[in-house]
Amino acid sequence: MKQNAQTPTGLDVYKIRQDFPIFSRKLKNGKPVAYLDSAATSQRPRQVVEAMEKYFFECNANIHRGVYQISEEATAAYESARQKVAKFINAQSSREIIFTRNATEAINLVAYTWGRQNISQGDLIVLTIMEHHSNIVPWQILAKEKGARIEYVDIDEKGYLRLDQYTNLLQQAPKLVSFTHVSNVLGTINPVKQMVKQAKEAGATVLVDAAQSAPHMAVDVQDIGCDFLAISGHKMLGPTGIGCLYGKRELLEQMPPFLGGGDMILKVTLNGASWNELPWKYEAGTPAIAEAIGLGAAIDYLNRIGMENIHAHEKMITEYALEALSEIDNLTIYGPPLSDRSGVISVTIPGVHPHDLATIVDRDGIALRAGHHCCMPLMDRLDIAATARISFYMYTIPEEIDRFVESLKKAKEIFEK
Ligand code: PMP
Repeated sequence: MKQNAQTPTGLDVYKIRQDFPIFSRKLKNGKPVAYLDSAATSQRPRQVVEAMEKYFFECNANIHRGVYQISEEATAAYESARQKVAKFINAQSSREIIFTRNATEAINLVAYTWGRQNISQGDLIVLTIMEHHSNIVPWQILAKEKGARIEYVDIDEKGYLRLDQYTNLLQQAPKLVSFTHVSNVLGTINPVKQMVKQAKEAGATVLVDAAQSAPHMAVDVQDIGCDFLAISGHKMLGPTGIGCLYGKRELLEQMPPFLGGGDMILKVTLNGASWNELPWKYEAGTPAIAEAIGLGAAIDYLNRIGMENIHAHEKMITEYALEALSEIDNLTIYGPPLSDRSGVISVTIPGVHPHDLATIVDRDGIALRAGHHCCMPLMDRLDIAATARISFYMYTIPEEIDRFVESLKKAKEIFEK
């Protein structure tokens, strides 16, 4: 791909990059960063920061309570961000969108409210071996408290979920099934729609962790058919400190609140309290107002580019990277073929610790992630301690992959001496 070239879908990546000031920065070695860690957190375009700045400089006030102009403006901006999220994932109503701190808190919200109300002794919770810790630990805490049990769906040699095993587990009538849409280690795109359909037929309540999918492809909660879905703002061009839980209205209506305090109540007396309407019942205290507004601007940005275009670009970059990496010998690439994977590639080199690799390529300005990626059970399953992971977004260019591959080759030579 040449400078200013467009993708077949018309995405002008070089123009997009101009919206991200970080790409103009020179590192200590005089080079710009080759940012290959978007699965950990994305970069942010100036439009997101400007939306937050506008709130701080023009209508900074607390929301929902003030009757004065700037508070009303802040409330409108915050609630408009909620509507943007609802439309982005095609929720039926913005009342089904709860702002949380991140995807982790969204999952914990379900575990602490729906979970404590609905999970009892001996109940089965089905998860998968490829889950992020944030979709394992809350359920382990719940299971321990309630005497419930957890079963994990395994993966096959290519990094696909073992759907045969999943189907068998569903025959044991689990109360809850929770799985990731896209693996943050293998890049596997799971067949969520089919999996949700099966789980619903088995009578389970279903949560989908969309932290790695919503930033990169169109996610439609009504089409998927899940009961809950968690997303993370900072992985989709938004700021840190903001995420969302989508929940079906009838479930959110029935569940008890998560945290108690201001804003989530209708009335408080010395003897008790009654709860506010959805979605505020789940948003105790002053929320992350600027961050929600920033997320709204991020969604505007994503919509302007188009999720189909983003997905197509990332597929092209992934194909480019997979091809380049396949020419390096003695390198293990994890995950399924291109057709079923997102822009995440994990690799290992025998005898080279991924952390050492990450440190060496950092000298060439390559930012990648080494470690267990908060997926220790998956690492155990793969019989490794860690991987080196590169991950892409709409702004990733082939030159960054070239720089990584060159640097990787140099690092290999050092280690193989
Ligand atoms: N699930 C998956 C699949 C993830 O990759 C991550 C972040 N690495 C999370 C959940 C947690 O997201 P957050 O940092 O927003 O809590």
